[in-house]
Amino acid sequence: MKITVIGSGYVGTTTAIVLAELGHDVIGYDIDSCKVDKLNEGKLPFIEPGLDELLTKQLKAGRIVFTSNSQPAIMSSEILMISVGTPSNLNGGADLTYVGKVLDAIAMHINEPKIIVTKSTVPVGTNRWMKRQLEEKIDTNKYPIEVISNPEFLREGVALHDSLNPSRTVLGGENSAAIEKVKQLYATLETTYFICNYETAEMIKYASNGFLATKISFINEIARLADKVGADIIGVARGMGLDPRISPHHLYAGIGYGGSCFPKDVDELLHLAQQKDANLSILKQVKHINDTQIDWFIQKIESQMNLGGKRVLVLGVTFKEDTDDQRESPGIRIIERLLVKGVEEIRVMDPTVTTLEQMYWTKGFDDSGKQRVKIVTEQDEAATGVHMVLLTTPWPQFTNYPWKKWANKVESAYIFDGRNYLNPQEMRSNGWHYIGVARGEQK
Ligand code: NAD
Repeated sequence: MKITVIGSGYVGTTTAIVLAELGHDVIGYDIDSCKVDKLNEGKLPFIEPGLDELLTKQLKAGRIVFTSNSQPAIMSSEILMISVGTPSNLNGGADLTYVGKVLDAIAMHINEPKIIVTKSTVPVGTNRWMKRQLEEKIDTNKYPIEVISNPEFLREGVALHDSLNPSRTVLGGENSAAIEKVKQLYATLETTYFICNYETAEMIKYASNGFLATKISFINEIARLADKVGADIIGVARGMGLDPRISPHHLYAGIGYGGSCFPKDVDELLHLAQQKDANLSILKQVKHINDTQIDWFIQKIESQMNLGGKRVLVLGVTFKEDTDDQRESPGIRIIERLLVKGVEEIRVMDPTVTTLEQMYWTKGFDDSGKQRVKIVTEQDEAATGVHMVLLTTPWPQFTNYPWKKWANKVESAYIFDGRNYLNPQEMRSNGWHYIGVARGEQK
């Protein structure tokens, strides 16, 4: 089949490459011509394990091409998949500007009947609105269109695995022939289809992310209590997770969830609830716990030492391991707090960051022009003279850092592990004062 994937970000690029891998002819369309050029040269504009090899393979096979020209992108394919961003507005609702622009482009270049598949996470009611918008803009007697909601559930860092092994394929729509056609796209994948109406499909996506965020905030709140009574939250979560009704997944206490999905999707659910006069009291608390988890962690640090004037080594600025995505990253949020607290110097180590410019949120200088955030790439000198190390992203390489050597080079050997990633016993035997998130330190 011939498919155009609109938007070549984390989701769109992964989807386009996987569809090519499934044997389809794919065009990836993005308004960002730099991204498009890179992709056509076989270079991913982001980090995602395993995806670059498949991109090279599919470019060579001639099954995929990227363009920033909307006309051929839209005219060439019967199936148009939308995977543009839907970031949060200031009021918490999802911003549909990019989706609207895509609808304009489709209306401008339509040349035959089309099926529009929505992969982007869009608020409940959007697919129906999209259909109405297109029906207003297009002569649908001449060019019939169908819209199918097909929310995406992949996780960054394991996006290829998730796309090739989907937990389920949700298809929301009103036209069974169009749904069947979209099913054919995935015919060679093993998946469970869930067919429903637009609103149910849209709500499945938001409720799933809301629930996963709830599991994280739940275990973080339990961690705050566990910390006071000397229970080890890792053991608590493991013991709970043995019950199949609970499951061990997403029960990781730490410094809160981040990334481009959970925070914005919880915000959109709360925004929708407010509009519809419904009270999502649990999700309000989920957001509150997440918003305050870093403050809780900073308090833990401050119970050991004052932050003013200190030098701190921060390990990790991506919101999770195996990605370069820093959107809503807890590591970035911690750095912001440390600056407010008057930390003198923040050294940052992250496998995906070699220059300050790659930290998109700050120049790293304070008002007086002093550089307070520095990127460090050399392991040897990274910890020299620091008062503490903060682990904020569970990158596997951090476990192999020269902790024993570092313990002799630091000003004071305090490690605050915001992700409960390191082994406390090992760290202590390497000479560190280890403090995690409720690791059973008796008060
Ligand atoms: P992204 O920001 O990485 O990519 C969006 C891309 O769309 C950008 O490359 C941008 O240039 C392009 N774009 C914007 N307007 C366009 C237009 N008019 N025409 C063509 N291209 C345009 O976003 P993402 O992380 O890939 O997320 C995309 C959607 O998928 C969002 O709705 C998100 O909530 C959802 N989603 C994301 C993930 C994830 O892990 N990133 C997982 C599931 C669902």
